[in-house]
Amino acid sequence: MSDHARNTGPMLASPRCGARTRSGGACRAPALSGRKRCRMHGGAPGSGAPKANRNARKHGLFTSDAIAERRQIQALLGEARKLLEEMK
Ligand SMILES: [Zn+2]
Repeated sequence: MSDHARNTGPMLASPRCGARTRSGGACRAPALSGRKRCRMHGGAPGSGAPKANRNARKHGLFTSDAIAERRQIQALLGEARKLLEEMK
C-alpha cells in the first residue's frame, strides 16, 4: 500500500443531501452547491419549479393576501361581538 496522505476532510465536510431513502435512512450523497439535495434527489440543474411558479394556483384562497384579509375580518367580528356583549 502507498503511504500517500489523502486530504478528504473538506470533501467529507460538505453538506449532505438528507433525502429519505427507501431503506428509511437519509441520503448521504453530497448536496449540489447552492442546493439542499443531491443530483439524484431533485438537485439536478433544471429540476424543480421555477421561481414565482403559479402552476398550482387555482383560486388564490390560500395566498398571504387572502389569509390576511380573513384574519382582519375575524378580528373585526370579534370586536363587534365583544361590543354587543358589553351593550347587553
Ligand atoms: Zn440524495
